[in-house]
Amino acid sequence: MKITRITVYQVDLPLEHPYWLSGGRLKFETLDATFVKLETDEGLVGWGEGTPWGHTYVPAHGPGIRAGIETMAPFIIGLDPRRVLDVERAMDLALPGHLYAKGPIDMACWDIAGQAAGLPIADLMGGGSRTPRPIASSVGAKTIEETREVIARYRARGYIAHSVKIGGDVARDIARIRDVEGLKQPGDIMLYDVNRGWTRPQAMAVLRAVEDLNVMVEQPCETLDDIAAIAPRHATPVSVDESLVTPQDAARIARDGVAEIFGIKLNRVGGLTKAARMRDIALAHGIDMFVMATGGSVLADTEALHLAATIPDANCHAVWACQDMITVDVASGRGPRNIDGHLHLPEAPGLGVHPDEEALGNPVASYQ
Ligand code: MG
Repeated sequence: MKITRITVYQVDLPLEHPYWLSGGRLKFETLDATFVKLETDEGLVGWGEGTPWGHTYVPAHGPGIRAGIETMAPFIIGLDPRRVLDVERAMDLALPGHLYAKGPIDMACWDIAGQAAGLPIADLMGGGSRTPRPIASSVGAKTIEETREVIARYRARGYIAHSVKIGGDVARDIARIRDVEGLKQPGDIMLYDVNRGWTRPQAMAVLRAVEDLNVMVEQPCETLDDIAAIAPRHATPVSVDESLVTPQDAARIARDGVAEIFGIKLNRVGGLTKAARMRDIALAHGIDMFVMATGGSVLADTEALHLAATIPDANCHAVWACQDMITVDVASGRGPRNIDGHLHLPEAPGLGVHPDEEALGNPVASYQ
């Protein structure tokens, strides 16, 4: 089987509510999504998506995905999409780095490989837990009152997992953590996501002040060096997501005890093939995981769900889904959707959901 054509679409995905991160220093209103259709000489068609969370969040760029695919396309056309490692190496040779540009191609290859095998991607990867995964909400940086309102809104939709965005103001952060912990119900999963918003002294001040609560904190500081420097000086479990980009990052975090949890972002790390290696490093070292797309439609959420299904239930806290935060649905309600705060693995071969092509508009590029 050979890849014969790559068709690229660009779609703006507006957020339902403007969204602030990192103590309010980053604001987001629309996500720039790239959808990729891979066609093969045997008639199978695979779909991928790459949707960075804007271009100020981490080094990723919507137009950069399209430019990266233009550069990589001649190296991918003619390869067998079922040999995802061959495609991965071809992309890495054609364009070192730029992992976010490779994610959609990798995803479409896994989609085709699953269809060819007659298996959902998670089963093909050797996992395939059918335990529904809790969806983590995103509670943007707000006051105590607004935080309560947003959590209540998600609870009404069944959510038990919440990623509460904090950072930037020590007193306010301590107050919000204490307030949310007071609202916690049995079975709730609360993650306090700083999105790099603390300096080392700020991190130490907050983490020591809430040490009695045994909360989980994500990406407290800008770099792995910062997070490593404070790690021996507090007792709070830490998740790393924005600084978890390569297998080398994963190895360092595991070896040096920098964090206890990985937040694996599929688009950020370059797709399922690369993310699976991080999963294995995590499992080998007793590190638990959150899995998320980075942003995007139900396609991106479904990719994350497949990886989550290859992680033992006890080691996978939740998946984060973006689909409930955007106002455009490219797949008309199909694919895994929120059911009582959980996503259920699709049983169809491959990814299990494809977009409506007419919802994507005209292609912006086609390579053959
Ligand atoms: Mg995070």
